[in-house]
Amino acid sequence: MSEVSWELLEHQIAACQRCCLCRGATHKVPGQGDRSAPLMLIGEGPGYQEDQQGLAFVGPAGQLLTRMLAAIGLPRERVYICNTVKCRPPNNRTPEFAETQACLIHLRMQVQLVRPKVILLLGSTAARVAINPSLRITHERGIWVERKGVWMLPTYHPSALLHDPAKKREAWEDLQRLRDKLQELGLYPDLYGQEAAHGDV
Ligand code: SF4
Repeated sequence: MSEVSWELLEHQIAACQRCCLCRGATHKVPGQGDRSAPLMLIGEGPGYQEDQQGLAFVGPAGQLLTRMLAAIGLPRERVYICNTVKCRPPNNRTPEFAETQACLIHLRMQVQLVRPKVILLLGSTAARVAINPSLRITHERGIWVERKGVWMLPTYHPSALLHDPAKKREAWEDLQRLRDKLQELGLYPDLYGQEAAHGDV
């Protein structure tokens, strides 16, 4: 097996035709952020803005995510953020199971390279890929799962919060769980700056 590297990952994603999503993509969206961050965020897939810019979470949901992270004192540039699929699904539909499985090779390499201690799973697609294919986000969000020393927390995708603001209260509770776990692991606030004074997401 070839040794993993960021260069290999970038090349692998740029050349990838493992599923049909590449046909409609303007840009592949590998992910970005701090490549040695102890906290990794995994979302679903690129939307319109992400597809146009080749960057993850830069549309309205991404802006909300930035505010959510700031609300617990996490600067967005200090986390690594990516999606389960690197190409935009048509009309922003949910990626199919086969598409997420085809793209898993890239996600696994990203996790191997970043070596996060904590992963926040944004939405059911990411949580199903990482934890359990039959996971129900409404039932299992906010519950920590530990695998091989990595702590994973499923929560709502920010776009779900934009569609249903009533979910924000639960999302805020999950953010507090995330902050508490980072604290427990000795990563907060030392590594992640100052504790925020409010919880307005
Ligand atoms: S979504 Fe992933 S697996 Fe499918 S073509 Fe794009 S990079 Fe390859």
